[in-house]
Amino acid sequence: MSAALLEIEGLTKSFGGIHAVRKCTFSVPEGQVVGLIGPNGAGKSTVVDLVSGFGRPDSGSVRFGSEQLIGKRPDVISRLGLIRTFQTPREWRNLTVMDNLLLARRRFADESLWRSMTRARRIRRAEEADRAEIRVILERFQLAGLKNELAVRLSGGQKRLLEFARIAAAGPRLIILDEPMGGVNPVLGARIGDAVGQFAAEGAAVIVVEHNLPFIERTCDQVVVMDLGEVIAQGPFAGLRDNPRVVDAYLGMDLSHE
Ligand code: ADP
Ligand code: MG
Repeated sequence: MSAALLEIEGLTKSFGGIHAVRKCTFSVPEGQVVGLIGPNGAGKSTVVDLVSGFGRPDSGSVRFGSEQLIGKRPDVISRLGLIRTFQTPREWRNLTVMDNLLLARRRFADESLWRSMTRARRIRRAEEADRAEIRVILERFQLAGLKNELAVRLSGGQKRLLEFARIAAAGPRLIILDEPMGGVNPVLGARIGDAVGQFAAEGAAVIVVEHNLPFIERTCDQVVVMDLGEVIAQGPFAGLRDNPRVVDAYLGMDLSHE
């Protein structure tokens, strides 16, 4: 068996006296979707931050392909092919849908707006080939009719689709989604589930932080459960329902019908 694309080992981070994350270890193979779940305060967001360069652990390591990620800046990490989303979509508000995707394709999305705008103009002149690929992505996410619209004018649902289109345009090797189902209606939810599945089918590794357990059950190959900073269980979703530590952490929440 080949090594996983992402390997998190012994990740530990305290804020003052709070052990936000303690000795967190799990890995994510290419082509797989790994769910990261647990009650509020479990440490999920801290793990995402530490992996994507938004914060530095007290100890532990994160290997991504052949690179060690600890100590690297978020923009450096994103250019290595790791894309994360935030709970609220972060698009370039005053650029069109098309320009948002052109920027994503160049993986410049984390640079300052000014530099990005300069590059957007240069890309407009030079990179006609990108446009053809982006047209396919626009169709895939039902955004074709909105390609010249400013991102700021999109509805919440359309912004969520733009976020997924930006991920597709960037073509990352690892995608970390922070609560992609937050505030999403069932129709859009189904589309998001399909998009996650397609990213994995195309070979990307995906981590999904999500409270919507039916979504986790549907989309994830493996699930990592955290509570109070520690990984308390991992494996296929089906095995978690009977795990006393997991049931305990969710205080009797019915994992089959949340
Ligand atoms: P989750 O995303 O699973 O809800 P978090 O990673 O946000 O959990 O938080 C884990 C714990 O660390 C919580 O007790 C939270 O209050 C604490 N924490 C997270 N970030 C900070 C911070 N920047 N400063 C102080 N405490 C923090
Ligand atoms: Mg969180």
